[in-house]
Order: sequence, then C-alpha cells, then structure tokens
Amino acid sequence: MGSATTIGTCKLCLKQGHALRNSHIIPEFLYKRVYDAKGRFQIFSELKDRPSGYKQKGIREYLLCEKCEGKIGVWEKYVKELLFDRAPKGVDFFDRIEFHGVDYHKFKLFQLSLIWRMDVTSLDDFNAVNLGPRHSEHLRSMLDRCDPGEPYEYGCWLIHGACQIEEIGNAIVLPTSSPRKIMGHVCYRTVLGGFFWGFYVSSHMDQFTPEDIFMTKAGTLPVWKENPQVRKFMQAMIQPLADKFASTQ
Ligand SMILES: [Zn+2]
Repeated sequence: MGSATTIGTCKLCLKQGHALRNSHIIPEFLYKRVYDAKGRFQIFSELKDRPSGYKQKGIREYLLCEKCEGKIGVWEKYVKELLFDRAPKGVDFFDRIEFHGVDYHKFKLFQLSLIWRMDVTSLDDFNAVNLGPRHSEHLRSMLDRCDPGEPYEYGCWLIHGACQIEEIGNAIVLPTSSPRKIMGHVCYRTVLGGFFWGFYVSSHMDQFTPEDIFMTKAGTLPVWKENPQVRKFMQAMIQPLADKFASTQ
C-alpha cells in the first residue's frame, strides 16, 4: 500500500495538480458482506485472462480529488444506509419489491458513479467495461454537474440476486458486457453486495419500452426478484458462476 495521496488530475472534475485520493472503484460497503474471516473476498471473472479466486481487500486507484471523493461519498452513504443498514420495508409485487420515497438524485447518481468508475479505471479487473469516449464524457459531465438525467439514461436494472441464488450473496462478479445486445442496447452486468446491477448504455435509451424496470423520478425503486425474464437472465449469467463457486468450497 502506497501513501494515501498522490498529485495529479482528478478524473471527475478534471482539475489539475490536486492531491488525489486512493479511491475505491467498487465502494467498500458492497464488499462487506462478502469478506471472509481473513478479510478476503471471493471474486468471479468471466474474462479468460482474469482468473477467479480470492482477493485481499478492495480494488483502488488514485482517481479523484478530495472534493469529488466526498461528493461520491454522500451518494454511497445514502445507498448503503438504504439497502444495507436500514433495509426499508418495500411493497411486494411478487416479481419485484418496490421501495417508495427513495431519493432519485442520490440513488441514480450513485449508480452512474459506479459504471463510470468501472469505465475510467485503468485496473485490469474492469477491462471489460469500455463505454467509449462519448458516453464516458457524458457520464463524467452528469456526475460533475450532479445531474442524474432521465430514468432511462444509463438506467440500471437492479435484481436481488441473492434471493434467487444464495451464493450470490458471497461473491463479486466482475463486470462484463452482455454477449448480445438486449433490446438493441449494450448492457454491462456485475454482481455486488448480493445484487445484480445491469447498466444499459445506449444513445437511444429513450426508445426503451419496458421503462418500468428502472427507478422513477418520483422515488419508486423496483428491485426485481422473480419473473421468467429475470430467471432466464440470472440462470444464464449466474448459475455457471455459482457452480464454480460451489466447486471451490
Ligand atoms: Zn475532482
């Protein structure tokens, strides 16, 4: 572990000559429940050159100035408290649980920051995320301006993976893009904190039909759990990884 800071250009506000923080790419709270007694976490990779196995502590890089780190920290704190500490009572619709009164700004900006960090990092674990310069800059600008955009813009499909396949709660699956476009859009998938996060990255997301899969501006957050589409999707992506996990126990 090097020193806590280094001097450089902040990837978010682009200000030069700042002390940069050794920033988490994946926020610490999404590792918490997957740490074992030795502080390691099980990590899965679908990438051929990135073997699955155990890693020590989080994955970090000098990315952000103190101000930007603090800004993202506020969104992280909100999501951590909402999903992991407070666990609010949602309304069960069988195929999804809906949480109401969620802060659209903070939750959506957190989600945007997650996919953006996975894109801008130079760390090999996130090589599969490559949004291209236009989407990358658009996301950076949204985060810099604290603009969460429309629900469909870089919308994130949140699925409670651990309620489908228990092993999901014990693992991190590094992000990959879906092998095929989903309804014409690129989707990056990752598993963190027991949840499946599917980010749609596309320039024509406003034409996305099943828009209700995303959080709404009115503060309704659907967390999907059980429907034929979810099951098919989860089985295809997660079951092979769960099998791999079981075989390493
Ligand atoms: Zn900054």
